[in-house]
Amino acid sequence: MFVDSHCHINFEGLADRLPDVLDKMREHAVTHALCVSVDLETLPSVLAIAEQHENVYASVGVHPDHEDMREPSVAELVELAAHPKVCAIGETGLDYYRLEGRSIADMEWQRERFRTHIRAAHATGKPLIIHTRSSSEDTLRIMEEERASVPGGVMHCFTEPWHVAQAALAQGFHISLSGIVTFKKATDVQDVARRMPLDRLLIETDSPYLAPVPYRGKPNEPAYVSYVGRFIAQLREETDEAVAQATTDNFFRLFKIARPAASA
Ligand SMILES: [Zn+2]
Ligand SMILES: [Zn+2]
Repeated sequence: MFVDSHCHINFEGLADRLPDVLDKMREHAVTHALCVSVDLETLPSVLAIAEQHENVYASVGVHPDHEDMREPSVAELVELAAHPKVCAIGETGLDYYRLEGRSIADMEWQRERFRTHIRAAHATGKPLIIHTRSSSEDTLRIMEEERASVPGGVMHCFTEPWHVAQAALAQGFHISLSGIVTFKKATDVQDVARRMPLDRLLIETDSPYLAPVPYRGKPNEPAYVSYVGRFIAQLREETDEAVAQATTDNFFRLFKIARPAASA
């Protein structure tokens, strides 16, 4: 059995066919999914899915790319995270990929927002879901300055080279790999997949984006995390079961979710 540690099934294309999405998870032995929040405006749709489905969990946070959305305060994140299905703070982090003519110095608002999330994680004791793109140095520096190692968490959809993974692991973080690992040219990600200590590895879809081979370019969905897990097992020359078991155990431990008796 596999678990999808990061998806957006409240987004268009998945939310409108949710019963089918959940059926397909079952068919592919994907037992649980974490539906990750990207802003406060759409948070109610994330929470509604988690409330209606026992095997779907939620997070609370505002994505670094969601620029013109309501800015959360620490107190607001803490209050929202008290929801019984909310098991993480995020996704948060830094993204310098689309600067659109601005300098990195201009992105102070993103760094402040990131600090706000880390402080909320401290206050709630819930782990962080961190997004980093073209910004690994600043991401790791702020994690260190804000002592993100204490609540801990996961670097999601990881695409950085191994030395960045090592720095995140040194701060006690987990690394989550998406369908990108199955892409032919993703040699950095494949290298990380081979070297990762199995007890810190998570897998995800980030659906509806980034469908793994053989669905590359098509809409993605949580069921396909099974392809991510199997591909990693092949790379590591381990059994599918070993990777499934470890990534599932890591998921329940990191997000402090009580395991259902049937999957224990
Ligand atoms: Zn992300
Ligand atoms: Zn995401």
